[in-house]
Amino acid sequence: MRFLGWAHQSISEGMNKAFFQNKRVVVMGLGQFGGGVDSAAFAARAGARVLVTDKAAADQLASAAEPLAGLPIEYRLGEHRQEDFAAADVVIVNPAVPPEHPLIRLAKANHAMITSQVELFFQMCPAPIVGISGANGKSTTTSLIAHLLAAGIGQTNIPYRRVHLSGNIGNRPLLGLLDVLTAEDVVVLEISSFQLEQLARIQKAPYAAVITNLTPNHLDRHGTFETYCRIKETLFRFQPCDPQHPCLSVFNAEDPITHNWFTTYCGQPGRTCIAFCAEDVPASLLATFKCPGRANRFNLAAALAVASHFGVAPDRVAEAVATFRPLDSRLQLIAEKNGVRWYDDSKATTPVSTLAALNGIDEPKILIAGGYDKGIDFSELGRCIAQRVKVVVLIGQTAPKIEQAIQAAGPSDVLIRRAETMAQAVAECQKAAQPGDVVLLSPACASYDMFTNYIQRARAFIDAVNAL
Ligand code: ADP
Repeated sequence: MRFLGWAHQSISEGMNKAFFQNKRVVVMGLGQFGGGVDSAAFAARAGARVLVTDKAAADQLASAAEPLAGLPIEYRLGEHRQEDFAAADVVIVNPAVPPEHPLIRLAKANHAMITSQVELFFQMCPAPIVGISGANGKSTTTSLIAHLLAAGIGQTNIPYRRVHLSGNIGNRPLLGLLDVLTAEDVVVLEISSFQLEQLARIQKAPYAAVITNLTPNHLDRHGTFETYCRIKETLFRFQPCDPQHPCLSVFNAEDPITHNWFTTYCGQPGRTCIAFCAEDVPASLLATFKCPGRANRFNLAAALAVASHFGVAPDRVAEAVATFRPLDSRLQLIAEKNGVRWYDDSKATTPVSTLAALNGIDEPKILIAGGYDKGIDFSELGRCIAQRVKVVVLIGQTAPKIEQAIQAAGPSDVLIRRAETMAQAVAECQKAAQPGDVVLLSPACASYDMFTNYIQRARAFIDAVNAL
């Protein structure tokens, strides 16, 4: 078995389920994403005395907490209490909580072990991990890789029997997987910059690591782009390099920073490096690939590099590419009414994603953009909207900043509108749309100012479109 040697080395001594027996474990953060539910369930099943604490009130968390019903767990909701943190043996922290949070400092000062869902998983996972990170295209690339690797199952040269998709994608269990994982599985994980920050703490990184691209993101949390990039580099810095079982590092050749990393890491003993670009995808595969735009070609090129490294046969890869379906809310056609096509790209939470969408659609465009302010610069988006968009309806916190960026781009024919709600925004688009136009929700921002998450934002858009 090709990966067994590596998999064995990856498990940290001393970390296993038994470690949690009777420990006082505080799980900080129970939101729908971030692994709080998975972590609490894992710790309770491992015999810990678990307290879940979240600043949100019980009624807001009711549906998130449903899977924990029946487990012996205490709750402290609507507040955090210092005494809970002072008494903890272990604190499992949600990735959204910054490491310098005063309650984390308090727990540390009282000798608690500070950890997280992703750290515990890396310390206990017996299977090789393929980890994907980057500013944009993570979920699509992660799903593509899992899909292509699964196509190889059963081939005589393929050393794994099952492929599991998890991590910062949807709301899938991660620690919950540990009960079923063996060294003959492969785990494909989307890893956020917040989770990489946590992994850096224990100097762990995946067996196979893929970076999609790097553009400024989450600067509200990380401060500068340099810090953000340094955190992303964790993906490669701590990979298990072993000449007997070389790890795999996959870089975007067209991104100047990741290309630079490629030249740095290339040739290191115990490591195989691959740099990918959009042109790597053969025309025969592209013809059957259902995800539109050049950005998705990069995602496919990265996935092809991983599938080829693992030895998936070309005919199986071709079949898998043809059967891959675009993920929800990523440039997804949701309706065609009176000759107007409506696209949901609610997952476009950065200007780069929205630029990818605007540059990938040739028809006249009406755009809904704006949302939570992550501190990202909108100059390039403003220029693109000024040149390529017919009408833009701005919503949310960043509406004034995006409007300023459009005006700073100079004279333009784009009409700028404002809306308070998604229903109003859709109504504005409907007023402006003519047959042949495309209406696109591609916000370039996160959703937290108006919605719980991008899924709820997409739902509001789809409901409003369906109601027209
Ligand atoms: P992530 O998980 O990094 O947010 P997704 O695959 O969920 O990435 O896609 C998010 C948004 O980015 C969607 O709007 C999608 O159309 C766009 N997108 C997908 N791949 C890329 C890429 N390689 N570069 C830029 N934008 C992309």
